[in-house]
Amino acid sequence: MSGIYVHVPFCKSKCTYCDFASYPREISKADIYFACLYKEIKGRAESLKDYVFDTVYLGGGTPSFVDEKYIVGIIRQIKNYYTLTDDCEITVEINPETISEEKVKAYKKAGINRFSVGLQSADDKMLAKLNRIHNREDFLLATKLLKGENLSVDVMLGLENQTSQDVKDTIDLAIDGGASHISAYALKAEEGTPMFGKYLNGDLPSEDETAELYDFARNYLEENGFNRYEVSNFAKDGFKSRHNLNYWNRGEYIGFGVSASSFIKERRFTNTEKIDEYTACILRGVVAEIFSENIEGDEREFEYIMLSLRKDEGFLFSDFKERFGTDFTQKYADRIKLVKKYVEIDENGIRIKPEYIYVQNTIIIYFMD
Ligand code: SF4
Repeated sequence: MSGIYVHVPFCKSKCTYCDFASYPREISKADIYFACLYKEIKGRAESLKDYVFDTVYLGGGTPSFVDEKYIVGIIRQIKNYYTLTDDCEITVEINPETISEEKVKAYKKAGINRFSVGLQSADDKMLAKLNRIHNREDFLLATKLLKGENLSVDVMLGLENQTSQDVKDTIDLAIDGGASHISAYALKAEEGTPMFGKYLNGDLPSEDETAELYDFARNYLEENGFNRYEVSNFAKDGFKSRHNLNYWNRGEYIGFGVSASSFIKERRFTNTEKIDEYTACILRGVVAEIFSENIEGDEREFEYIMLSLRKDEGFLFSDFKERFGTDFTQKYADRIKLVKKYVEIDENGIRIKPEYIYVQNTIIIYFMD
């Protein structure tokens, strides 16, 4: 199975840590942007006619910020031109300050069946420092509107002055709001963002302090029935994100819109990040790509190892053999010796030991040439 990602590059304002393709001052371009997006969706359909998709993910930016007619239009366009499974997981990202009863109704009517809400913190002061537009109260109102729905909540670790009590309060709020899936990401102060200045000043928790907050979050989530299935993702039974699992299983996906990435027939490619360039090209009947690479040979195997070992369950040797025609334990015997301390291996497969998942990047490097 394969996934569809759609990028909505509009936000009400810019968060202090954000380096995503999101443009608060460009909302006046919504009409032309979505017209071009629908054109791209239609235009790629012929080359993907043999694909069956079991996930659609509308991310951003803030999809819930724009008028619901655009979101409904995206789903309609996808359903018109692509084959989706009957139980297709269709997710929309939501900022609690921009959601309304009308939007939720329209989303559900269009077929959206999973809602990913960015909470980040239960503390209004921390939210203000991140320049998030919502507060705790907005989150409570949003979860009322989404009561009984398949709800995922994003929380952030490593915020300025954040304690484990703050993390607990945030997780409690997410659980009380009805979350069945929680993503707990460590704040990354990307260069060029206001948050990067705070990082340089030493105002943010150190890596070790953030790792401690992560350990706390992981234990607390597990005590509350949320099992980790990937470095930053925790779910109650039956609520893993199918869309993200496809990425970690090295499955294929098509991305539509600015900055959207795709992986189709062993080619990875990414659309331009600039709205004007994107729309100008689409109007001329082409898609502006800023990146394209065919993945060949051992690089395919490395990608699979790297992505699969992010998951708690790791991967099965039989799956590796089926994909690459190679016996993993024989080909990588010397590398396995080097990472022995960090991994569990049995006759079926390999996975990183639970206590080392957080630092999986340093382990995976051993499998690189
Ligand atoms: S809401 Fe998300 S995409 Fe928009 S500015 Fe904030 S972090 Fe960036």
